[in-house]
Amino acid sequence: MTSTRAQTVLRSNFHLGSQSEKTSPRRVLGTRNCIKVVRMIDLHLHSDRSDGTLPPAELVARVAQAGVDTLALTDHDSTDGLAEAGTAALERGLRLVPGVEVSASWRNQPIHVLGLWIDPEAPVLRAALAGQAERRHERMRMICARLSERGLPGARWLAAVEARTALPTRTHLAEAIVAEGLAGDTGDAFRKFLGRGAVAQAAGLWPPLAEVIGWILGAGGLASLAHPMRYPLSAGARRRLLAEFAAAGGGAIEVVTGANAAHQIETCAALAGAHGLAGTVGSDFHDPKHAWNPLGRLAKLPPGVTPAWGLRETRGTCGWDG
Ligand code: AMP
Ligand code: MN
Ligand code: MN
Ligand code: MN
Repeated sequence: MTSTRAQTVLRSNFHLGSQSEKTSPRRVLGTRNCIKVVRMIDLHLHSDRSDGTLPPAELVARVAQAGVDTLALTDHDSTDGLAEAGTAALERGLRLVPGVEVSASWRNQPIHVLGLWIDPEAPVLRAALAGQAERRHERMRMICARLSERGLPGARWLAAVEARTALPTRTHLAEAIVAEGLAGDTGDAFRKFLGRGAVAQAAGLWPPLAEVIGWILGAGGLASLAHPMRYPLSAGARRRLLAEFAAAGGGAIEVVTGANAAHQIETCAALAGAHGLAGTVGSDFHDPKHAWNPLGRLAKLPPGVTPAWGLRETRGTCGWDG
């Protein structure tokens, strides 16, 4: 398929949806005799275009098997998988939300911002992601040089990461370290070599949060703060982050993520309310081999949180259910 054709498929699936009797979401009678459309939504997924293990079409197949009917592919700083995912989603009657997970920095802390309902062809976003790709290659060279200074085989690991077609991430480096036998698994590699406070984070490299939000808005998208509870911030710093995020045009936070415990969902719901933000739901799925598979098992958005998809999709239904 030519990229023009692929883009057409992606756009038509995005704008028009792709409902058929066979694959349409489950319809149940809701209150007041209103037909309620029960959707299974997952707005945070990775493919092998970044650090997921599945090619986009296989990811869409897995997601469909799990009963999800509306999905966003959100690779790190890359929209490369969207055309393939769009085609696969259309074939299966799923709705694809074009997405990306953009790396930003806020007070020297790396922050991830989901861009959802983006136009991947928007010039501002294309130029920005080209810059991000350059930063990712540069950061990988810098991390590996630092590892070499510590007597580790950084040059060999760099070659292994750069030999892959995906945009480099620390996950790829962790996998190279595991392949050498210097760590038991990628989590172990992060703990030993790549985690917080270690040589590898290089947070200052990423553009400021407000700039990243501007790229997403410039591509017609909604900016949602990814996994808000995963950043090592005090409660006060997290509130300041949310205030600045909202002031810069951020529209939502990821209230439900694959790893969130119930009390964290409540905290995120309260943060959304306090800062006038909508909520998104996403598994952050990377690999079916991970011990806990979150596909199709996400908690629902708590009542009282405005679902971001309700702001974006007005298809004449009278209810949405995350
Ligand atoms: P990067 O965007 O290159 O900094 O890589 C970040 C990615 O590394 C995240 O999206 C996760 O997929 C993965 N990651 C981060 N921390 C850990 C960890 N402690 N254990 C395993 N994977 C991690
Ligand atoms: Mn990742
Ligand atoms: Mn992330
Ligand atoms: Mn992610």
